[in-house]
Amino acid sequence: MALIVQKYGGSSVADAECVKRVAQRIVTTKKAGNDVVVVVSAMGDTTDDLIDKAEQVSPLPPARELDMLLTAGERISMALLAMAIANLGHEARSFTGSQAGVITDGSHGKAKIIDVTPGRIRTALDEGSICIVAGFQGVSQGTKDITTLGRGGSDTTAVALAAALNADCCEIYTDVDGVFTADPRIVPAARRIPRISYEEMLEMAASGAKILHLRCVEYARRYNMPIHVRSSFSQKTGTWVVGSSDIEGHEMEQAIISGVAHDRSEAKITVVGVPDKVGEAATIFTVLSDAEINIDMIVQNVSAASTGRTDISFTLPVSDGQAALTALNKLKERIGFEALRYDDRVGKVSLIGAGMRSHPGVTATFFAAIADAGVNIEMISTSEIRISVVVGQDDVDTAVAAAHRAFDLDADQVEAVVYGGTGR
Ligand code: ADP
Ligand code: ASP
Ligand code: MG
Repeated sequence: MALIVQKYGGSSVADAECVKRVAQRIVTTKKAGNDVVVVVSAMGDTTDDLIDKAEQVSPLPPARELDMLLTAGERISMALLAMAIANLGHEARSFTGSQAGVITDGSHGKAKIIDVTPGRIRTALDEGSICIVAGFQGVSQGTKDITTLGRGGSDTTAVALAAALNADCCEIYTDVDGVFTADPRIVPAARRIPRISYEEMLEMAASGAKILHLRCVEYARRYNMPIHVRSSFSQKTGTWVVGSSDIEGHEMEQAIISGVAHDRSEAKITVVGVPDKVGEAATIFTVLSDAEINIDMIVQNVSAASTGRTDISFTLPVSDGQAALTALNKLKERIGFEALRYDDRVGKVSLIGAGMRSHPGVTATFFAAIADAGVNIEMISTSEIRISVVVGQDDVDTAVAAAHRAFDLDADQVEAVVYGGTGR
């Protein structure tokens, strides 16, 4: 008997009809002789709606209370799904993240899972139950408060539970047929990737391809847990995310470039006129790290000989923008910079592919494609298997499509279907 962990995203359980369809799918898996643990997200855009509600009563809601509010979304869907399964004549029990043993640190809104102790899930499985677990939430080891794992975090709940239960695989059900060479919502000619390595998927997720939560891929790689990303609206095989050694046997499938990702959730801050002396960058980034702000790209210009000053630009999550400006402004005198510039109308476009290690000219082709599309590049960063550029937000779609075309990723026949979701 296999143990399968299935995760259903918000669009897969958007309304009562969807919940009933998903319940049917779960029962079919159970009837095929498997033990089934299901992780479920909040219905449709519930999480966004709850955030809007919070902002209506307070411009800056306390993080603890916001987490308490947001976890209600997953509670609704887990209970409804368990009811729909019961209605089909099968025993299902729902569990909050805390009841399922998802233990996190105390960092509200972006908590990290530090342990999973799924004793109650194991017992319920042994008693023949289907287990439904609320995604995206846990309980802090220190404070015992309820926490959330960050937007899209239900994927991470699923893989973490799959690893802790030693499951055979983790299926992530969503509103597209797998991982594509670009977001099908902006590149209809995107192709489904049959198999992708953990490391390429990590770069895609870190570059904004929200099809999988970044930490879910980190988890899967650490525990060598195969992930099958597929649609809950079709019966098609999706994308297998596996170790690179599991791909070598399928060399025909391995392209130089696996895909183009984009991210509109970052902002850019420029610290203007920083004195060009030892320790200034360290001071700036220590302030930001003390405020628990994650920095992505950093660019420091050569200082102008006449002034001995330079500009430092960096990108960060737009949600941390105001906190970063406040923290830096407090240090204005000490660092001696001249001004701060803030731009939240930026976007990041990234090209990802393990093959770029051994193929020269990839960078040149990428930049030429973006230039030919008339898009100006504001910042650049690279890793061994990724090149990212920051461009104006309105240019993101154009740049993604141009890069996709330049690397011959466009499919001859359109196969990318978006079955649901609002893309919010
Ligand atoms: P869920 O609610 O199921 O978790 P998400 O909205 O978080 O779904 O993720 C699925 C969405 O990810 C798709 O609808 C698609 O618009 C987007 N996406 C971004 N990049 C990709 C990609 N490379 N391949 C497939 N989907 C992508
Ligand atoms: N409901 C949460 C969100 O919208 C978590 C998830 O869907 O994975 O971000
Ligand atoms: Mg998601």
